Amino acid sequence: MANKPIVKAEKLSVTYMMGRPNQVNALTDANLEIFPGEFVIFFGPSGCGKSTLLYAVAGLERNIQGDIFIDGKNLAKFNEKELDNHRQHTIGMIFQAYYLISSLSVFNNIVLPQFPLNVKNKEREKKAVDLLSFFGVKEQIKKYPNELSGGQQQRIAICRSLINDPNLILADEPTGNLDSKSATDVMNLLLELNEKKGKTVILVTHSPGSLDYAHRVFYMKDGKIIDVKVNRQPGEPVKKEVTEANVLAKDLETVSGGAGTGGSQINKSLELLARTYSNIAGQFGSLLIPFKAKQIVSEVLTSLGNHDIEALEKEVEDLLKKILSQEDFKSFLDRGVGDFGLGLDKRTAEKLSEKIYQIVAEIRDMEEQEKQLGAGIVQDNDKEVKDIREYLFEAFDVKIHDRLQLERVNSFIKQRLENKIDGKQFSANLDKSLKEGGVNLETRLARKLAQRLELLILGKLR
Ligand code: ADP
Ligand code: MG
Repeated sequence: MANKPIVKAEKLSVTYMMGRPNQVNALTDANLEIFPGEFVIFFGPSGCGKSTLLYAVAGLERNIQGDIFIDGKNLAKFNEKELDNHRQHTIGMIFQAYYLISSLSVFNNIVLPQFPLNVKNKEREKKAVDLLSFFGVKEQIKKYPNELSGGQQQRIAICRSLINDPNLILADEPTGNLDSKSATDVMNLLLELNEKKGKTVILVTHSPGSLDYAHRVFYMKDGKIIDVKVNRQPGEPVKKEVTEANVLAKDLETVSGGAGTGGSQINKSLELLARTYSNIAGQFGSLLIPFKAKQIVSEVLTSLGNHDIEALEKEVEDLLKKILSQEDFKSFLDRGVGDFGLGLDKRTAEKLSEKIYQIVAEIRDMEEQEKQLGAGIVQDNDKEVKDIREYLFEAFDVKIHDRLQLERVNSFIKQRLENKIDGKQFSANLDKSLKEGGVNLETRLARKLAQRLELLILGKLR
């Protein structure tokens, strides 16, 4: 083992709600060193600060005191560019909830983090196929996430975390949603990654069944690292036969539950994904709406208590079912608690209702789009392409009857769905003259069509 740590924390602390009555010292004076090639686990009860520590390493938790060095460089001092680089190249993240995008094929999900990087299609494809083969899921390349079991989805998410070849794999309760057999599979995959590919793995869990996998376990409680236990030396195999029963990982700490910790975790993981994908979106900012919606809601949720959240969810449900108007919703937010409201001040209520209402409208819009597309973008057959073209034309009142133009639009849609071109190229192709092989649409219209197509492709987040 190299003796320079890949991760080193010195007096690392994270305080939420600093100076308020509800101040939380989520992490206090953590000191640790993790070495290249190690498999370590942060272990402790729900709420003890494991995820906070992990997200600090990921560069997602920026509200830190103390220092944290990644390969000797102080992450606390990184600028935005260095942070993006860190998130895109140094770390790969795996989450309990997978966060695959249901409207994209397995292949496209895996290569998504490559989009900002200008990698050649061929190279991208080879990487994805290699990873899928390594993890024994190559035959799933054309499938869609909802055709897969939880265990298979987590494998795909693991492939995605590896596509940019990071040295550091960060996994936050990755087996939390899985049955014990799949949980064991996933743990064994992480072990293989560590042993065969030499990746450094940091895994967060509150279930004791998988501790044997680690070289070292950092025990945490109340925001502190209280103990470090060495299980095995580098190169030494996992001691016990780790059985299925051992990795009984059924995790009660679901992302949406868990004493108010869920919101911020969703928030941070979504932020990571949004950042990873933001360059794909480029001019197409609206792609990030689903991420943003979740972020906004979870932002609000972290400042509310459990009871309030339940009440709010109930009202949003009514809003979705269209039995509540935006006005009534606003009044609910603003009414005093005694009147079964949330008791927010008027301005906050107004802003929040506006935000949530927009989100709800956006969701409805997407549902509408999907309805029009039948089952959504599923197979790359010609009918699908034609449906999409017709939908796009109708949405923007485009009337083209020229065969050549129509055929070209079809072919560009197809190429986009197969990811042979990106959204920008799609837009440029529509824009180009017929002579140049394009469709000769107006630039603005081309962009709008491209934007809508991107929304269709990425719009539905699971
Ligand atoms: P674990 O992953 O071990 O369950 P977390 O790191 O998620 O714990 O949370 C540690 C503590 O910090 C918990 O008390 C949690 O409620 C609190 N916490 C986490 N994120 C936030 C946040 N954004 N705002 C306020 N408190 C938070
Ligand atoms: Mg956690």
